[in-house]
Amino acid sequence: MTAAFELPIRDDLRGVKSYGAPQLSVPVCLNVNENPFPLPVDVAEAITTAVRSVATDLNRYPQRDAVVLREALADYLASESGVQVPWDQIWAANGSNEVMHHLFLAFGGPGRLAISFDPTYSMYPEYARDTFTNYLSFPRRADFTIDVASACQQIASHRPSLVLVTAPNNPTGTALDPVDLMTLLSTARDCGAMLIVDEAYAEFRRAGIASALELLPDYPNLVVTRTMSKAFGLAGARVGYAATADPAVVETLSVVRLPYHLSAVTQAVATAALRHCGSLQAQVSTIRQERDALQEWLVEQGFDVVLSDANFILFGTFGDREGVWQRLLDQGVLIRVTGPAGYLRVSIGTPVENDRFRSALLSAVGDER
Ligand SMILES: *Cc1c(COP(=O)(O)O)cnc(C)c1O
Repeated sequence: MTAAFELPIRDDLRGVKSYGAPQLSVPVCLNVNENPFPLPVDVAEAITTAVRSVATDLNRYPQRDAVVLREALADYLASESGVQVPWDQIWAANGSNEVMHHLFLAFGGPGRLAISFDPTYSMYPEYARDTFTNYLSFPRRADFTIDVASACQQIASHRPSLVLVTAPNNPTGTALDPVDLMTLLSTARDCGAMLIVDEAYAEFRRAGIASALELLPDYPNLVVTRTMSKAFGLAGARVGYAATADPAVVETLSVVRLPYHLSAVTQAVATAALRHCGSLQAQVSTIRQERDALQEWLVEQGFDVVLSDANFILFGTFGDREGVWQRLLDQGVLIRVTGPAGYLRVSIGTPVENDRFRSALLSAVGDER
């Protein structure tokens, strides 16, 4: 038995619980917006070969600047969005969560402010807390779009150094109008703020919806973050990245990163997967079709459905959403209690999983309706 010792934990961290959705072992997991399909065999083979080829060199530290991976990411962005971004304007890290953490370390900090628009991704306040950055969020409109005129006023009066915009937004799936984005970018630029567009779900956007990448040449304060965790089906690999308008942004992010932050294994896995992105495109298009079909079905069933450009749907509304969530779980279907009161969020699964969700939902709400 050791002597009593009061751990000198930071005052603001005492009693704080770690973030995360429940990781339960259930047949149908539709709660964290993963790609539901296993990796195609050719991708898995390419990854295995790539890992094998770095295995004997693991006695050495990895390539610190991950240049080969960043070049592969640049090629991918060019093919996905038609936008050429030089590799030295691309940053990569362990998930876009770490990219965002780096952005807060570089552009936030004590006495500085980050702002966002609620409901949105629940991790932003945590990056702010970790980096001693002040954090404010302003409500979106009733349809979950950003009220741009009011947002610009907030930016002008509060003078944040970071403005965070999630597009498509999580947990609502809401797209961002490019004209609105340009207005926000100009205001942020004139007020000295970086504007981060979190495009974790960009690949799922409907045809005709532009990526913020297209605006990089025009706005030096724009950073677009992306991830391999969602469309790419590599949540387990932990790879996220950012495209920036100015190589100086990347140079600053490399000042605050930990040395050798991206392992040689991670770099090899991600690079191999990127070289085989063709076979992932088929999965993404299936997921988009399934989303549209499920969305229509939910509307037909009389639910209140938020139009989604992502691989999930926010729907409701329920007097007792926890009860509905639990009754789905009792039938082996795990979704997420998140978003405004009364709503639930379901990730798009495989066609079979989506059917199981449909029938489980009907029986789960039977008592409510
Ligand atoms: C899932 C998600 C991410 C991705 O996080 P990773 O760290 O890349 O897995 C980033 N932003 C939003 C809004 C998300 O929903």
